[in-house]
Amino acid sequence: MGKTDGFMLYERREDGLRDPKVRIRDYNEIHADQSAEVRCIQAARCMNCGVPYCQSGIRLHGMVTGCPLHNLIPEWNDAVYRGHYEHALHRLLKTNPFPEFTGRVCPALCEKACLNGLDGSPVTIRDNEGFLIEYGFEHNLMKPVIPALRSAKRAAVVGSGPAGLAAAHRLNQRGHNVTVYERDDEIGGLLMYGIPNMKLDKSVIRRRRAKMEAEGIRFLTGVSVGTDISLKELQEQYDAVILACGAKKARIPDVEGITETAGVISAVEFLKETTKALPALPAVNAKRKKVMVLGGGDTGNDCVGTCIRQGCTSIVQLEMMPKPPEERLPDNPWPEWPKTLKTDYGQQEAIHVFHRDPRMFCRTITSLIKEKGILKAVETAEVSLAEGRLIISEEREQIPCDLLIIAAGFTGCETELPASIGISLTKRNTVATENGQYMTSCEGIFTAGDMHRGQSLVVWAISEGLACAKEVDAWMMGYTNLI
Ligand SMILES: Cc1cc2nc3c(=O)[nH]c(=O)nc-3n(C[C@H](O)[C@H](O)[C@H](O)COP(=O)(O)OP(=O)(O)OC[C@H]3O[C@@H](n4cnc5c(N)ncnc54)[C@H](O)[C@@H]3O)c2cc1C
Ligand code: SF4
Repeated sequence: MGKTDGFMLYERREDGLRDPKVRIRDYNEIHADQSAEVRCIQAARCMNCGVPYCQSGIRLHGMVTGCPLHNLIPEWNDAVYRGHYEHALHRLLKTNPFPEFTGRVCPALCEKACLNGLDGSPVTIRDNEGFLIEYGFEHNLMKPVIPALRSAKRAAVVGSGPAGLAAAHRLNQRGHNVTVYERDDEIGGLLMYGIPNMKLDKSVIRRRRAKMEAEGIRFLTGVSVGTDISLKELQEQYDAVILACGAKKARIPDVEGITETAGVISAVEFLKETTKALPALPAVNAKRKKVMVLGGGDTGNDCVGTCIRQGCTSIVQLEMMPKPPEERLPDNPWPEWPKTLKTDYGQQEAIHVFHRDPRMFCRTITSLIKEKGILKAVETAEVSLAEGRLIISEEREQIPCDLLIIAAGFTGCETELPASIGISLTKRNTVATENGQYMTSCEGIFTAGDMHRGQSLVVWAISEGLACAKEVDAWMMGYTNLI
């Protein structure tokens, strides 16, 4: 523990976000610059608890709290406080291969379980992590690590989201020969074509790709497994195959004509096309439009931030659930994941531009109002919960709308690929495995990430990718010394 009374001396200070007035004029990252001095003092706030919940990744009342990667947080915070940045980075990379992703987009499960948060503000763990990895890249500490010995084993990874990348990284470092197949033109999965540039600049993913390629991983982009090459062929050519294809099939509400109406688009398609078109506008955009985003979650928030930048004239975000409390309720104590209201960057920007929170809680859509097939307004109704059932009120309110973005959740993975060789699926449309394992019902074929656990988080995808790689190593070699 660097400074015994650091947590009493210093207030929490995040890296902060750029001023909404300025940042809505561009698609650059919203984060303000990082300063080593600030991070050093912030790391001194870590109390080096005897039982550090921040790194626990445990399930409490159905929700995980603490870091799923079990990052050695108190240890590297201490090293940051002492200015031993290289050592701190080394300890961070031991458990997390991609801190540049989590340091930007992780909802910081660790901070929700930090003891300082029990009666005050948690340590700025995510910002410290982001600082360390950027320090590493800036100071030439992130040189390619090329395995000294190569095995004769070959593994194929299908999908280059964080799960596929983590699995590929670990297997390659172990000395196996890894090829990653990716359907899109760029690697990264939802890091590239989901999470907007404002949260994660795409150069960060390309920088990682260059390092992984230098380390020996082969990336084949623009290759769709199931179309350009069959899963059966991969099975024949490789010792093991990992399916890490994500789970981004959108949940489309049961509203008449919703899929055929011009002016209705799914959130992932909207965000992907926006990223691809930058700095121009995509074909379907929010410029001079009255926008409604259906779904009050993080994906919906990303759509709000994107529409503000594209120049929408109004925006509402519909959420079925009631407005959460501002503070933890007595039945949701520390260190559980806090079920509290979060006003994210997109919502803050909407408040800045339109002087009101875009969210409408306890509300859903019931029908679309169209003129010549084009969306003009959306009819909405209040929703309430009674004895565990959703009740939709009889009263209707029309909200003018010419762009409806659906961010109402996901219904699992695309099932055609696993079905092509009879791999078992779960009722939730994810690929089935034994509990806590990664081999599918088909020998030698493994799965990880959202395709396995359903739409989740980057940190979970990385965690699953690493655990899956360990199982694949054991399968190919007959033993494993991976952790
Ligand atoms: C809009 C949005 C914002 C999000 N924001 C955050 C956030 O801020 N923080 C956070 O922690 N999480 C966030 N998430 C969730 C997070 O992005 C996912 O949980 C994570 O990316 C899952 O990783 P994955 O590797 O399992 O799958 P994905 O990232 O979905 O990657 C799967 C890859 O497989 C490829 N693929 C699919 N089928 C084939 C095939 N047949 N052949 C070849 N390639 C194929 C796809 O093209 C894709 O590149 C967000 C999700 C969305 C939709
Ligand atoms: S990966 Fe996420 S949960 Fe883990 S230490 Fe980093 S910010 Fe916290």
